[in-house]
Amino acid sequence: MAENKHKPWELAQMQSLSLESKIRMTQQRIRAWYEHWNGQVYVSFSGGKDSTVLKHIVDSMFDDVPAVFVNTGLEYPEIQSFVRDIKAGKYDCFNSDVEILRPEMRFDEVIKKHGFPVVSKVVANKVQTAKPGNIRWQQLHGMFVNPKTGELSQFNIPQWGFLLDAPFRISDKCCAVMKKQPAKKFTKESGKKPILALMADESVARKNAWLKTGCNAFELKQPQSQPMAFWTEQDVLHYIKKNNVPYASVYGDIVIDEKTDGKSILEGQINLIDYLGEYQQEDILKTTGCSRTGCIFCMFGCHLEKEPNRFQKLKETHPRQYEYCINGGEMVDGKWQPNKEGLGLGKVLDYIGVKYE
Ligand code: SF4
Repeated sequence: MAENKHKPWELAQMQSLSLESKIRMTQQRIRAWYEHWNGQVYVSFSGGKDSTVLKHIVDSMFDDVPAVFVNTGLEYPEIQSFVRDIKAGKYDCFNSDVEILRPEMRFDEVIKKHGFPVVSKVVANKVQTAKPGNIRWQQLHGMFVNPKTGELSQFNIPQWGFLLDAPFRISDKCCAVMKKQPAKKFTKESGKKPILALMADESVARKNAWLKTGCNAFELKQPQSQPMAFWTEQDVLHYIKKNNVPYASVYGDIVIDEKTDGKSILEGQINLIDYLGEYQQEDILKTTGCSRTGCIFCMFGCHLEKEPNRFQKLKETHPRQYEYCINGGEMVDGKWQPNKEGLGLGKVLDYIGVKYE
């Protein structure tokens, strides 16, 4: 296995830099990526706030880098209209060259063919590939023994063993079909290499990926750049506020978080205190609307959310989409699946114990 390029302390050090330093470092990485591939690069754009900031930085540096948006049909309507507005040239600060791709299957078709995305990619994959006696099956029963130590494996997840008896199929294939395949096809056909707004503090998997490759992963089979890997959500919100960047209306306003008294409590934070109108760079900001804008019907991670969770919020903010998501569904050959009336997620959420009313 290849050695990690970076150590965790390097990431922590980069994450503690001022926003101005981070912007400079991000620009350096984007320039290196652009020059290495002779300008044959693109921004992977989801319409969310992170990739909006990435696009804003790239567009301020070059006028010939397109953005690619995969329209899965699972985005909030406000995200879709924001992307359409950019493409229509509504904003001077954005390059309107936005390629809109579509996956080969709809979400309900993916569920029917593969299964529902529940809990997490790792758990869904283990449930889907478990066969009586194999390692995943043993892990889901909490009985897999690490052959090196002779002790029970830390990867055992007996708390999810009940999913093996679910009256519906479970799968981690959705992201691959809905998002990765269209982007992969575009990369292959165009020869352009992607720049993504992934950040290491979003998940352990993303952090580990960055430790292995760093920001510009030239050496991967599918090379990719993640020049904002050392940013945090606070950096993104401050960048938007400071630069007056247009963003999708589904987020609401960006305001100081009164609960934290507006002040950073992170030890070692060395952000500059510069006055930017009514707030300071060290203020903790939040959005008054949605805080996440991924696929609105996705169940990955929803069991970890405090109430009101994403589905309870959806009921208030987008009642039509909520009805389609929760209602409908039918039994086919002993397995629950979507039908014309709706995706039938209500029954799945009941089974995993997540409230949606
Ligand atoms: S985030 Fe969820 S709903 Fe969206 S493509 Fe991935 S698995 Fe499917």
